[in-house]
Amino acid sequence: MNHNYQFLTWEDVKSLDKDKAVILIPLGSIEQHGPQNPIGTDYLISTYIAEKASEKNPKAYSLPPIPIGVSSHHRNFPGTLWFSPDVFRSIVREIFLSLKHHGFRKIIVVNGHGGNTSSIMEVIGDFNDRFDFIALLFEWWKDEQILKKVIGHSQVIHADEVETSVIWAIYEEYVKEEKFEKLTSSPMWGRYIGDLFLSSRTDQFTKSGIAGALNEISRENGLKILEACIDKLDEHIKLLSNYKG
Ligand SMILES: [Zn+2]
Repeated sequence: MNHNYQFLTWEDVKSLDKDKAVILIPLGSIEQHGPQNPIGTDYLISTYIAEKASEKNPKAYSLPPIPIGVSSHHRNFPGTLWFSPDVFRSIVREIFLSLKHHGFRKIIVVNGHGGNTSSIMEVIGDFNDRFDFIALLFEWWKDEQILKKVIGHSQVIHADEVETSVIWAIYEEYVKEEKFEKLTSSPMWGRYIGDLFLSSRTDQFTKSGIAGALNEISRENGLKILEACIDKLDEHIKLLSNYKG
């Protein structure tokens, strides 16, 4: 059965066991991802993972994605769209409130963009604190075990070998393989003054928009990472669905 939330009727929603149902909310961004990847990469990956997990697990329902996130630091690359953190937090909060109104209380935010993390955690912390509500955050690129097993390291920065492999595995037709040979990258994210991190616009430390390793871009690795992440999310859904509290 299709478990995309938008295909349910109101009677379907009414009849769901709200103590067992887990709502997945895919979030991401529309921002530059180097000359090789589509600008929707972050939300396309999180949506894919959430939809596949909801196909696997009958307790999970995946919302349509919120494609735009906190990305103003990419704005000097053409195409990037962004919300201010205030607006983004408000959007997440309003979605939580709507779901809470209908009796849902178990949520997993499936995020695809690091710039969203602190805003999401603020809203999650607030709801878990004030209401009978359990919201969790799932971020595919944070699972060190999966990454080390597939690619031998766990560093994922931006539009690098890992992210490019993953989006290439999902949307082969929208990733420009002919660009791979001449890609350049910054070895790290941001800049430093001495040991102190200097938060920066992306164009201030990378010309191509890429940061991180570019040793091996591989659809096969991308597929392996995706499958393992979908299995992991499925485990989290089971735990949360059965969680008493
Ligand atoms: Zn990304």
